[in-house]
Amino acid sequence: MNWNIGNIESIFSISPRVKVFKLKLKNNPKKIIAGQYFDIRLTAENGFQAQRSYSISSSPKNLKFIEFTISKSPNGEVSEYLHNNLQIGDKIEVKGPLGNYFNWIPTNNDQIIFFAGGTGISPFMSMIRHKIETQNNSKFKLMFSSRTIKDILFFDELNKYTILDPSFDMKITLTREKSSLWKGLTGRFSINEIEKSLHNIDKNSVNYICGPTNFVEKISSIILDLGVNYDLIKTERFG
Ligand SMILES: Cc1cc2nc3c(=O)[nH]c(=O)nc-3n(C[C@H](O)[C@H](O)[C@H](O)COP(=O)(O)OP(=O)(O)OC[C@H]3O[C@@H](n4cnc5c(N)ncnc54)[C@H](O)[C@@H]3O)c2cc1C
Repeated sequence: MNWNIGNIESIFSISPRVKVFKLKLKNNPKKIIAGQYFDIRLTAENGFQAQRSYSISSSPKNLKFIEFTISKSPNGEVSEYLHNNLQIGDKIEVKGPLGNYFNWIPTNNDQIIFFAGGTGISPFMSMIRHKIETQNNSKFKLMFSSRTIKDILFFDELNKYTILDPSFDMKITLTREKSSLWKGLTGRFSINEIEKSLHNIDKNSVNYICGPTNFVEKISSIILDLGVNYDLIKTERFG
């Protein structure tokens, strides 16, 4: 697959550490599947190159524009550059769509639990947006772990979907929130809470887990211990 050019159409901050970048692609891909990602390659003036992968968070329906939801890693080579230097109108090299495993192709009556840690919500936003857009009746349950209220990505949009679509449901936990304004869950998802979410959904539901490596490993080990079949677990580690 050749490198493509993405023109930066818009950039907006959605939390203190996360920005959404909207790109218009020079060559439209034939198809995008929710959950796929692109590689972004940066080239310095001295020829040094750095390349990282970023999930598509927009709906896969629009092939001309794609959105990435990127958190700024402290001293991170690529994410810091994207956050600090990228401007509307800039062009960057992208390659994709890539990844044929951590995907969701709309099928009716699917039963899925999504476990997202921070920007691990990115590929799930693409899947959830696709479900809403196509009025797909699959049962989606999102278990979303964020640090504080300000860090909950796409909060209003996700809340809207819980009202719009009775087959979409979510539970959010905040691991570092001190404010009494938050009435929901706090701390890491407990085994109890995860067990409850598994009880409300079919035994053959697929479990998608995405986020930092320690989050992915912890949730995987909990659900394996709770008896979920290995074949029903799909993971993506953001490092
Ligand atoms: C399939 C896939 C999809 C992804 N999708 C997304 C997405 O949608 N959104 C998103 O935000 N991320 C996503 N990621 C993660 C992304 O690819 C990058 O890994 C992330 O942005 C960090 O890259 P970076 O170049 O900024 O940081 P890096 O330079 O790779 O560094 C990462 C961290 O390690 C630290 N570090 C580096 N070198 C050292 C060292 N020598 N000693 C100590 N610490 C060090 C840095 O300070 C930094 O905090 C995805 C990853 C994969 C594999």
